[in-house]
Amino acid sequence: MSTVLETEEHQALRAAVAALGKRYGRDYTTSVVRDGAHPRELWAEAAKLGYLGVNLPEEYGGGGGGMAELSIVLEELGTAGSPLLMMVVSPAICGTVIARFGTETQKRQWLPGLADGSLTMAFGITEPDAGSNSHRITTTARKDGEDWLLTGRKVFVSGVDIADATLIVGRTEDARSGRLKPCLFIVPRDAPGFGRSQIDMELQAPEKQFELVLDDVRLPADALVGDEDAGLLQLFAGLNPERIMTAAFGIGMGRYALARAVEYAKTRQVWKEPIGSHQAIAHPLAQAHIELELARLMMQKAARLYDDGDDIGAGEAANMAKYAAGEACVKAVDQAVHTLGGNGLTREYGLASLITAARVARIAPVSREMILNYVSHQSLGLPKSY
Ligand SMILES: Cc1cc2nc3c(=O)[nH]c(=O)nc-3n(C[C@H](O)[C@H](O)[C@H](O)COP(=O)(O)OP(=O)(O)OC[C@H]3O[C@@H](n4cnc5c(N)ncnc54)[C@H](O)[C@@H]3O)c2cc1C
Repeated sequence: MSTVLETEEHQALRAAVAALGKRYGRDYTTSVVRDGAHPRELWAEAAKLGYLGVNLPEEYGGGGGGMAELSIVLEELGTAGSPLLMMVVSPAICGTVIARFGTETQKRQWLPGLADGSLTMAFGITEPDAGSNSHRITTTARKDGEDWLLTGRKVFVSGVDIADATLIVGRTEDARSGRLKPCLFIVPRDAPGFGRSQIDMELQAPEKQFELVLDDVRLPADALVGDEDAGLLQLFAGLNPERIMTAAFGIGMGRYALARAVEYAKTRQVWKEPIGSHQAIAHPLAQAHIELELARLMMQKAARLYDDGDDIGAGEAANMAKYAAGEACVKAVDQAVHTLGGNGLTREYGLASLITAARVARIAPVSREMILNYVSHQSLGLPKSY
């Protein structure tokens, strides 16, 4: 893939992460999944090399970069076949929100650990009865003396088992108007009243998803991240990086699958020429390549806008990048499986399970349809149907 839009540092970072990814690769991820384990070795090594905290401020142990750099890390690990999904959550959402809105104490408590990999954070916003409509979430925090009591339910939250804490999106009641305002709370894994049960997913990935029950979880005053009155703004500061990183996840997976298909198409021969000489095989692979490149271009734009402090501009671009990457990923994986014929469905080639995995980039963290809604309303000014 062309890298002309990136600085020499970015290109060097890509090459270095690609080399790390190559040492682990798809076989590593497959064995971690088979053993029901966690990709601890890769997580630790990526952290040690400074890749996980590349977006976090230098004064708290990070690399002082931004989403441009962090998205390169995830894309290249994915391209090598060993993506780290928790990067979307731990350094990108939680690290960003704490770095931008946390108190000095919260920054010191969390950022160095998130950067060096010794601490991990999960992020919970989705609720069973709200789904895509996050205005409908009902997890509520009420004051009890100096403390908060947090009650509610969450679903599909990734990595809660390995995360030291989960950043939970809840609501507090405005004392004057009675209106519910979104707020972010750091909930330690073992807090009394914080229950989790693993969801049985048809997804072969090291990261597991959980349903959470928060039953009057008592939290100290400083569990609240940021200002009680600016919750929505703070939330969006974390959601744009999440979309940019999901784009990186999709592009990486798509590139991985495409490379396997291209390799195969060059050597598999059932007539006079390798199957890659048939345009019915070559053209869809070329299209997949073009669409992944285009998605990456939008991801780079979103990352640039975000890193330059343009939250509004980044919002539109991050949504579009996530959409484009999700679609490009699903198509690339589908075409890769098809290119391998029967081998596309064998364990040995390991591509078929990516069909399910690729759908994650289309559904989460915001579905394709919700992005089309956003673009219809926000970018095109069309009326809302819901
Ligand atoms: C592997 C995985 C990991 C995840 N990790 C996390 C996590 O760590 N933390 C977290 O908080 N959440 C997580 N999620 C949840 C994810 O963000 C949600 O699944 C997603 O937001 C969609 O919500 P839903 O599943 O409730 O679908 P629903 O909201 O029920 O939507 C179902 C379908 O209806 C469509 N739809 C809904 N409303 C409209 C509308 N107005 N117009 C058109 N179509 C519409 C949707 O596009 C979708 O196709 C994860 C999900 C997965 C699959």
